[in-house]
Amino acid sequence: MDSSELRRDLVSGDWIAIAIGRAKRPHAFSRVHHHDSAYTKRAGCPFEKPQSSGNAPATLVLDYAGRTLSGTRADREWFTQVIPNRYPAFMPGEPKKHAVGPFETMDGAGFHELVVSRDHHRHWAQYTQSEAATVFRVYRDRYRTLSGERIVQYVAIFHNFGREAGASLYHPHSQIIAIPVIPPDVQRSFAGSARYFRRHHRCVHCALLEWERRKQGRIIAENRAFVAMCPFVSRSAFEIRIFPKRHEPCFGNITDREVQEAGDILRRVLGRLRNRLGNPPYNFFIHSAPCGRVALYPHYHWHLEILPKISVWAGFEIATGIEISTIAPEYAAAFLRSRSKASRRGERM
Ligand SMILES: [Zn+2]
Ligand SMILES: [Zn+2]
Repeated sequence: MDSSELRRDLVSGDWIAIAIGRAKRPHAFSRVHHHDSAYTKRAGCPFEKPQSSGNAPATLVLDYAGRTLSGTRADREWFTQVIPNRYPAFMPGEPKKHAVGPFETMDGAGFHELVVSRDHHRHWAQYTQSEAATVFRVYRDRYRTLSGERIVQYVAIFHNFGREAGASLYHPHSQIIAIPVIPPDVQRSFAGSARYFRRHHRCVHCALLEWERRKQGRIIAENRAFVAMCPFVSRSAFEIRIFPKRHEPCFGNITDREVQEAGDILRRVLGRLRNRLGNPPYNFFIHSAPCGRVALYPHYHWHLEILPKISVWAGFEIATGIEISTIAPEYAAAFLRSRSKASRRGERM
């Protein structure tokens, strides 16, 4: 049968479908994504000089070499800075619970920060190796700090690129939102990895990683500490996951060397997306066991997921939660591994 294949995720238990009969060739996804000039223009951008544009003072400022800065040097020499979001979804306070009729509500207490890098037009795929490491180190250090806050149950780190991926501002920035509850999706992943662990006495992600590295077909890139792949059960075309080779439940526990390697593989893989698929919008995010409660989640394995925004959810997806992908991850990975003529000329990997 070659109409489609249903695949079930080992961790979440979700099904996805790969429409083999309707499969597109990888090149069908490769078009130049247009980010219009009204969106990308630098004039009027509030992150050129964040404090002059009414943002609060930075919580943390680093220069291009990754050194911490303060005072007037911070204004002049900054490469990346952490600022509280001017329009926060969650604000410091007490997460008090209330009853509203049959419902339970809670005050939206937490933290909402932005990690802004300086150059308006230089995005993740274009960072140098050391800039990528600096931004990734900021993620880790803020993760450590915020997960130590009494009211925080979960720290979400994510990055939106392009208007279609929800980035209202074009200027490169990532977001960190620390909340007083564990999100249901993440909770389900914890339950799934615990179930696998009880049955097989090992981490589901370590098992997957071993299988994928033996098979090789879905792997896009690898360095000393990380592997990037298009997962066997991809929810969308060209979905990518980056796994650390070392089993570690909590993102906040990664070493300085791993920070370097993580930044490097992320920028390279995003570079592949940019070059091969014509600069598509995307979201990436980190999934991690909550810090401080690693003892509860020894079976979990933190990782990073990248979801390019190149297909839309239509009726079937919305009605069933089963996404139909029109490219098999095996072909997507092979396409991302290969180089276009343009990238062979200009890109050093
Ligand atoms: Zn800007
Ligand atoms: Zn593991």
